[in-house]
Amino acid sequence: MHTFVFIYHDYHISMTAAAVSEPKPKKPNWLRVKLPIGEEYKHVRNLVDTHKLHTICESGNCPNMGECWGEGTATFMILGNICTRSCAFCAVATGRPEAVDWDEPQRVAEAIHLMKVKHAVITSVDRDELKDGGSTIWYNTIKAVKALNPGTTLETLIPDFKAQRHNIQPIIEAAPEVVSHNIETVERLTRQVRIQAKYGQSMETLAILKEGGMRTKSGIMLGLGETREEVIRTMEDLRGQSVDVITIGQYLQPTQKHLGVQRFVHPDEFAEFREIGYGLGFDYVESGPLVRSSYHSEKHVIPGWGVGKWKAEKNTML
Ligand code: SF4
Repeated sequence: MHTFVFIYHDYHISMTAAAVSEPKPKKPNWLRVKLPIGEEYKHVRNLVDTHKLHTICESGNCPNMGECWGEGTATFMILGNICTRSCAFCAVATGRPEAVDWDEPQRVAEAIHLMKVKHAVITSVDRDELKDGGSTIWYNTIKAVKALNPGTTLETLIPDFKAQRHNIQPIIEAAPEVVSHNIETVERLTRQVRIQAKYGQSMETLAILKEGGMRTKSGIMLGLGETREEVIRTMEDLRGQSVDVITIGQYLQPTQKHLGVQRFVHPDEFAEFREIGYGLGFDYVESGPLVRSSYHSEKHVIPGWGVGKWKAEKNTML
């Protein structure tokens, strides 16, 4: 059984000329990944092409595509691949989205069934032009996946739905195992990095999900100019909304048109944020240069798994 991942990243066309044309700093060796090869990769490749599924692995230039696909996993998004927003780090196209495809929920459920996956992650672009923000397709997709794949656990990486409770409620009613929404960066940089989003609004979306009894998750990218103190403050704010799981990874510039990488954060700093995260009470902290929202997400659905492993590591060091 494999993990089938629909990954949402929040990434796109940048803002200030100076920042966008900076030469790319040389990638350190800890960000080198193996090229995708092997039968399983080809198998997933074939599935994606045959079923015309939108993958964010490709449009998001995810560095883990090789590992994920090599392990028989893949990443897809629903609601098309044109977003109504233009985040300055995101490789997804911005513009007038396609018409809603009401057959998509069943097609996604069938692909998961075909792949026999034990865990699936679903994500989408933002559809601010739709009255429900796309939450009906979200609800239909979760229900279709669960109906056809009762043994598969599900993470839904959702937009902020402008923190509108009536558009978030269908996700809560469909009850995936984990609901994630990425805060992406620290409060000071939010305006620059996620132009149409608001830091407080995203925190509110996470609060509504927690009030609805969901296991919640959020993610931050580093290397955009944030300070150590700002990262810790963001982790504290997420714990303030009782967020259970956090992912912390390195931002990578998709193209020269996107925000430049301010710095490559050393793996030791990611390890330190992992310690700080468990100290703040997160149930699971996934922190590392190559970490993306859905990296190892099959483990994020298990309450106590992450913190249990961390405590065991502590005990072995005693
Ligand atoms: S909201 Fe749209 S532009 Fe922003 S990260 Fe998500 S898909 Fe990309």
